[in-house]
Amino acid sequence: MNPFMKISQVMRLAYKKHILIPAFNVAYLPMLKPISDALSECNTIGIIEVSRPDIMNFGAKSIEAVAAEYEKFANEKFCFLHLDHVPVIDENFTDVDWEQWIKNGIELGYDSVMIDGSRLSFEENIRITATVVEMAHRNGVCVEAELGSVLGHENKKLPPYEEIFEKKIGFTQPEEAKIFVEKTNVDWLSVSVGSIHGAISGAAKNQKKICARIDIKHLAEINQKTSIPLVLHGGSGIQVDCIKEAIKNGITKINIGTEIRQAYEQVMESDQKIAEKMVKKAVMGIIDSYQIYNSADVLLT
Ligand SMILES: [Zn+2]
Repeated sequence: MNPFMKISQVMRLAYKKHILIPAFNVAYLPMLKPISDALSECNTIGIIEVSRPDIMNFGAKSIEAVAAEYEKFANEKFCFLHLDHVPVIDENFTDVDWEQWIKNGIELGYDSVMIDGSRLSFEENIRITATVVEMAHRNGVCVEAELGSVLGHENKKLPPYEEIFEKKIGFTQPEEAKIFVEKTNVDWLSVSVGSIHGAISGAAKNQKKICARIDIKHLAEINQKTSIPLVLHGGSGIQVDCIKEAIKNGITKINIGTEIRQAYEQVMESDQKIAEKMVKKAVMGIIDSYQIYNSADVLLT
């Protein structure tokens, strides 16, 4: 757990001031140090995170390994450690021992955890999220949950993007979001408002992501009804202007996975050092595009 600052406070302040906290997925262990280095050099507050798919499908190995790497290399004056996507039912529709994953994350000192009950019924999602919130809050750990479904992890063909957007397939319903937040006491909510996850399996994981966008009106309605920091998954590949508008409307944390993973993978086999530099460069590019240099000055006062 971060000894310098509390993630709950930093996220609340960022939400209030419309400052983005970028969250970077560690798909391979050596990606962690360059992410942290980039944040320190830019004086930017960010989150370093690992998801179950990063471990199962790529090279993040285990949540223990990521916590150890974090302990070794992260500069906690600028970052937090988050356990991303612990699904109750995974992308292949098998049951996951979510309780064990969450317990481990809490014991290992993660600052926050995400329970993903998005493949459950609304009631079941509420029930399990509330259980996790209780477990986590007892230990001073924050919880992110997901309502609606951000598509893309599943190993099946998606409908055409325009159809997803027009018909709002998987979109979070504002009224449900309100009830969900009230009943679970969750800290932040991952919402589905047009973004999609990068593919994590098959040939598609190496392809360029679809250029997604965000339904700002829909997002604004959710924000108005929930008043807690909102999270955008599948942040890679969305136009910067669109994201800036989303930040004004409640999005506080954006998960960035595909973009930095692919930067690393392109050269990881031929030159490890250059691969790490590519990650740092990509992270700095993201900090630059959202103009969040020196966010630490504002968020740590
Ligand atoms: Zn996600």
